[in-house]
Amino acid sequence: MKIHHLNCGTMCPWGCHWLPQLSTVPMVCHCWLIETKTHLILVDTGFGTSDLKNPTQLGPSARLFGWDRNPQQTALAQITRLGFKATDVREIVLTHLDLDHAGGIADFPEAIIHLLEPELSAAQPRRGLMNKIRYRPAHFSHNPKWQVHPVATGEAWMGFQGVREVKTWPPELLLAPLIGHTAGHLGVIAKASNEKWLFHVGDSYYSRDELDSKRSLSLGYRYLRLTAHHNRSMALQNQQRLSQLVHTQTPIELCSSHDLRELAAHAPTPNL
Ligand SMILES: [Zn+2]
Repeated sequence: MKIHHLNCGTMCPWGCHWLPQLSTVPMVCHCWLIETKTHLILVDTGFGTSDLKNPTQLGPSARLFGWDRNPQQTALAQITRLGFKATDVREIVLTHLDLDHAGGIADFPEAIIHLLEPELSAAQPRRGLMNKIRYRPAHFSHNPKWQVHPVATGEAWMGFQGVREVKTWPPELLLAPLIGHTAGHLGVIAKASNEKWLFHVGDSYYSRDELDSKRSLSLGYRYLRLTAHHNRSMALQNQQRLSQLVHTQTPIELCSSHDLRELAAHAPTPNL
């Protein structure tokens, strides 16, 4: 099993270049492309081809996030550059269905889309203003091949509950519920070849600095922490568990979706 670390969308929220007090660095969309013996598995997609063609389908938050609209950054473009075909991606795991994570699923219409059951239940009726903003119907209009997983199954793993193998995945790949940022937010754990664990934690935090109480956060990140989580208390509990994980001797590396430094640790030229 080999993991490619892709940036499938650069964002400059709140005009980060000229308002550094709000956000000092661009945000990325850190996705995994996993080569197994038989096929490719994509963890999150970032923005997709249809978003490039019709950015208004992203709704009001697209301007706020300052998405770069770079056609070289779609997962499809990068997978093609690596010499694969779209149909080689037979499975996609979505940490959640937010527009900056699920925008590219229509580029892989044959793929099975794994997600947790409460996520699909929240995204399909889109009740409430926040759900209307974050879940974009255009991303799901091609009738995706959903494979929903219940939250309450699996086992305990290093302080996290409900961790489980998935039948069609290699055994060194695990699904881990991380409810909080959204109703059905999840993470993906991988046993890397060097005996290290890698943990894709989606939007459990936006900046790695959130795991360190001694670091001060910029205004923009503080605003996101206050407003973007579906269940703030559960999201902060996840952050505490993740903080404990990285401050112990556990040989584990976290990959959150939007922290450029974490992406750069695995992709020295992170395709910004
Ligand atoms: Zn996100």
